[in-house]
Amino acid sequence: MRRTGPSKSHRHGMSLMELMKKFPDDATAETWFVQSRWLEGIICPHCGSTNGNPNTKHRSMPYRCRDCRKRFSTRTGTVMECSKLGFQIWAIAIFLIATNLKGISSMKLHRDLGITQKSAWFLAHRIRETFDFAWLPGFDGPIEADETFIGGKRKNMSHEKRKEQTGCGPVGKAIVAGVKDRKTGQVSARVVKGTDATILKGFVRYHAEPGTTVYTDEALGYQGMNDIWTTKQLITVLANMSIIWPILMELRAFGQC
Ligand SMILES: [Zn+2]
Repeated sequence: MRRTGPSKSHRHGMSLMELMKKFPDDATAETWFVQSRWLEGIICPHCGSTNGNPNTKHRSMPYRCRDCRKRFSTRTGTVMECSKLGFQIWAIAIFLIATNLKGISSMKLHRDLGITQKSAWFLAHRIRETFDFAWLPGFDGPIEADETFIGGKRKNMSHEKRKEQTGCGPVGKAIVAGVKDRKTGQVSARVVKGTDATILKGFVRYHAEPGTTVYTDEALGYQGMNDIWTTKQLITVLANMSIIWPILMELRAFGQC
């Protein structure tokens, strides 16, 4: 029999079975978070540098920044920081909240995930806070678009590193594209691979409804990303978005949001 519409589970959210198949254990969920978070390469959550080193033997903090020399993990700077809950629980909770934005209570999460009520409340609160930034599609503007660089400072670099970095380009820095809806004030940003027109236009087109006016000129009262966020805030927003984004993209493919 040929199906004409999406199955019931797809209309009402990814089924629990599908979720469990996707995240059968903590290790699978951790790999998924690592790949999602460092999609455009490792970015230091402390200073924004792209000179991270993943080959250290430290268990809980397996990355080290070559610029600011601080250690970090997949959790550092994200909603999962300071939480003892496993990656599997976080992954499933993010999916459940993304598909039940208005509905799911921390009581239900507490029962479904087998965690304490306090943990469930904390987890739900932090995930919802991130969704405020990450709830992206459908900016109908007018919107402002901007790009900026975040990254390690030259004074923190070794002599060898400084010698490598000739010129004033964004070497060792992460490139961030951002948009702001003037009407709603909603902002979204993410790390992109380059600053060429195709990448930036693609980013803007993803957010803006067709026909939306896009401002990229400061002369029009345009407020750049550096006016909206401090570098530290931008790094935090990006860290959280980088784990929420892939989930939203995936759910979009399922036609759920
Ligand atoms: Zn750093």
